[in-house]
Amino acid sequence: MHHFSYRDGSLFAEDVDLRRIADEVGTPVYVYSSATIERHYRLYAQAMQSAAPAGKAHVFYAMKANGNLGVLKTLASLGAGADTVSEGEIRKALAAGFPANRIVFSGVGKSESELRFAVQAGIYQVNIETEGELDLLSRVASALGKRQEAVFRVNPDIGAGGHAKITTGSSENKFGVSFEEVGRLYARAANLPGVRMMGLALHIGSQIQETESFEAAYAKMAVLVGDLRGEGHRVDRLDLGGGLGIPYDIPQDLEGRDFDHGPGLIEAYAAMVKRVTQGLDVELGFEPGRLIVGNAGILMTRVLHLNPRPTKQFLVVDAAMNDLVRPAMYEAYHEIWPVAEPQAGTPEVAYDVVGPICESGDTFTTGRVLPALAPDDLIAFMTAGAYGASMSSTYNQRLLVAEVLVKGADYAVTRPRQTFEELLGTDRAPPWLA
Ligand SMILES: *Cc1c(COP(=O)(O)O)cnc(C)c1O
Repeated sequence: MHHFSYRDGSLFAEDVDLRRIADEVGTPVYVYSSATIERHYRLYAQAMQSAAPAGKAHVFYAMKANGNLGVLKTLASLGAGADTVSEGEIRKALAAGFPANRIVFSGVGKSESELRFAVQAGIYQVNIETEGELDLLSRVASALGKRQEAVFRVNPDIGAGGHAKITTGSSENKFGVSFEEVGRLYARAANLPGVRMMGLALHIGSQIQETESFEAAYAKMAVLVGDLRGEGHRVDRLDLGGGLGIPYDIPQDLEGRDFDHGPGLIEAYAAMVKRVTQGLDVELGFEPGRLIVGNAGILMTRVLHLNPRPTKQFLVVDAAMNDLVRPAMYEAYHEIWPVAEPQAGTPEVAYDVVGPICESGDTFTTGRVLPALAPDDLIAFMTAGAYGASMSSTYNQRLLVAEVLVKGADYAVTRPRQTFEELLGTDRAPPWLA
């Protein structure tokens, strides 16, 4: 369940009226709920702990889903580790209080300077995706007089996910080393001075709402673990990635529904993991992103104008695709809840909800039936906590959106809206035009 609900005719985040945030911080604004993040993390971590022998399950929050400092600090304080994909993310994870020995570095293309930074910081594990990266990591680490613990990210040739752009586990995708190559690379790594191979990793996609694809991929990995050990290699860790999905069409009555799922997807996943990895004697890693933060955040926006046409009604809002790109990029669906609770008998209108950006792709939804709205009304795009603000940009010279973290009756602006000085001040004119 999440903690956004109507009270006294207005939508609240926990005990804070969203109208107050709109007045004090302005719109568009992302609002995150601490209680929701905490609840989701605890439920997920407990379920994964039940899937492994005591002390052998490790959760690394995939911070690309939401890298807001308040969100990160909340998760670090709960004991989560961090799954990072760039030097910037490693730096931010450290700044947020994640200990280096709970940071994993994933990603398709890690540069020499990024690897050097990661090794120097003393992170837990590098997930190696190519043979070149194996060599580079060893060279970088040994030059620093270190041996970095690492795993191979394997491409299990089983892709899954809510959209082609977020499928990662198919052999057609750019991720990981192929199954057939792992044994040879393991053998090579044994002769390299700067790495210590600890096991395997995989991540097959995102927004996956069944357990069959995971199971097929994990079962292949379990066989591979046995094969590699048979060849004398050390396989102590199995990092199972993230990717468990969430429903975006959320009913307003969520009583008792963890993660807003129909009953039991997390439990079914944990039971499957236990079944498939039982007896393997490995440390299990998990890298959830969307599942932890997805429905812990909303994007609140204000209606600017109505634009009636003969065949449709456009609702122009002050948020745009640069603030929330998921509908434009992944054809994603977000529920829209008016901040003022709809009263019985309010007429309904089918709207195309669009932002101010100068391209037709800047459309959040078409033909969405909503209670009639007017300029200045506030609406919330629900389930915007994952891949929302973290994918925002300044396209059209729009300011990076503000972000707010709510806790009980308190809220804090954890990322102030960018200023025009900040936006424009980073550019430099070439000397010949200065
Ligand atoms: C993006 C990503 C994740 C998180 O995926 P979710 O679908 O948000 O759970 C985990 N691991 C890796 C390697 C990723 O790239």
